[in-house]
Amino acid sequence: MTKNYVLGLDIGTTSAKAVLFQKNGRVVSENENAYPVYHPNPSWVEQDPVEIEKAALSAIAGAVQKSGINKEDILCVGISSAMHSLICINEQHEAISPSITWADGRSVDQTNRLKETIGKDIFLQTGTPIHPMSPLTKLIWMKETGYQPYINAAKFISIKEYLLLKWFGTYIVDYAVASASGLFNIHTFQWEDTALAAAGISSDQLSKPVPSTEICQGLEVELADKLNLPQDIPFVIGSSDGPLANLGIGAINPGDVALTIGTSGAIRQMASKPETDELQEIFCYGVTENLWIMGGPTNNGGIVFQWLKDVLGEKEVEQALANGTSAYDLLTNHAKGVKPGAEGLLFLPFLNGERAPYWDANARGSFIGLTLSHKKEHMIRAGLEGVIFSMYSIGQALERLAGEPTQIFASGGFARSPLWLQIVADMFGQDVHVPVSHQSSAWGAAWFGLYALGEVPSLSAIKEHIPMSSTIVPNANHHALYQELYQTYSELYFSLKPHFQTLAAFQRGSSVK
Ligand code: ADP
Repeated sequence: MTKNYVLGLDIGTTSAKAVLFQKNGRVVSENENAYPVYHPNPSWVEQDPVEIEKAALSAIAGAVQKSGINKEDILCVGISSAMHSLICINEQHEAISPSITWADGRSVDQTNRLKETIGKDIFLQTGTPIHPMSPLTKLIWMKETGYQPYINAAKFISIKEYLLLKWFGTYIVDYAVASASGLFNIHTFQWEDTALAAAGISSDQLSKPVPSTEICQGLEVELADKLNLPQDIPFVIGSSDGPLANLGIGAINPGDVALTIGTSGAIRQMASKPETDELQEIFCYGVTENLWIMGGPTNNGGIVFQWLKDVLGEKEVEQALANGTSAYDLLTNHAKGVKPGAEGLLFLPFLNGERAPYWDANARGSFIGLTLSHKKEHMIRAGLEGVIFSMYSIGQALERLAGEPTQIFASGGFARSPLWLQIVADMFGQDVHVPVSHQSSAWGAAWFGLYALGEVPSLSAIKEHIPMSSTIVPNANHHALYQELYQTYSELYFSLKPHFQTLAAFQRGSSVK
């Protein structure tokens, strides 16, 4: 009997998503389970690994159940996960710390000090920006502050490794997740000694790095029952959500750029050799022995529109609740009536500090150019444009290393908005391709599963199996206008930087002087 289905499991920042696909990429069923994020201190961002494992388990069980198919017809499960999480594990293989996520900011001081000393040397070996997001700087924080779980830990692992530990009793990590730890050498695919020394740990305390095609098999009977899967189904380790989103959207060849905007955002491009950025603006992570991924993340993606909705959209939120429509759609409709450039109103979107390209936690948001004639709709339009100006600036940094983009593939919640997609096409001056399913990372993970089992000939063959919904074509006049405005936009951050520093200190309650 031929097995026709494959499951992709995506462990995201706020939820676990399980998607059951046909082998041609058509979604059969999907199931999502959210988990909480905890802030025990203002800059701390933690999750409970036990809650995440439970959510992942029931996401899979629910997707299989919803599909109504026979579980024996599922070939395998491929796994995607968010990057940069860190959990301390004791000798008994239990978690003795929360999962500290990429958004955690506790290691700012350690990051700044590392940047002033051996940070750049480590970056050039690992490709991971020296930033509080990375497990490297979190480990240094743990070492310096005498964090008890660090002292008692036998192992340090990420959330995907935790799932594999609980389900298969093994300590393995795929190259991409390892790469995002800041402890992995992307030239040798080994743990990097200088980073381990800075973190005060040994390579025995980390998992064994393995290729994305590594298979785990042999679920306990009880666990298989809970997952609603056969006991012998292969779990293929897969990769991290960034490269898998590129794969799942078909942005694989030189010039193919994946632009994702969910709550945060990123631009990424695959590369056939590792390249670390002398300016340290762009990351480079290993994916397979002959594939790397380069790009830059932003803290200010869809969360900016969410903020605009909360601050300016009271009426639209009420209307949406009453009519069962989306407040985002109602607000976008207002902004549609405003010309590109929002009549000379610019918005710097750094509401949440910024990662690429400036890597500046003190960056702040601002409207520039307000006049009496500007209304709410101008502010919405400028807000949407500001997010894309920021993506464009990361794109420029990426272009410096990876060459000019030839095609853009868009994914994430923002792709529900035709206006926002048009702004991307106009600003970049490129066609923007949009897939039917938003679950690109899950499809990428599932495809790695098919590849590992020899069901498909290559990773790039996925291009033939991505149902696409539309292509947005740029408007040349709007592109010229955005090019002009971008000059101003790109100078504004540097002009305002010292003032952002002062205001951020004020907001933290420190002296303004
Ligand atoms: P996550 O990263 O949490 O998975 P999503 O990919 O679901 O997030 O994206 C959520 C974001 O998508 C929201 O913050 C919002 O900015 C944007 N969004 C959602 N719906 C719409 C819409 N109809 N029009 C424009 N933007 C939208």
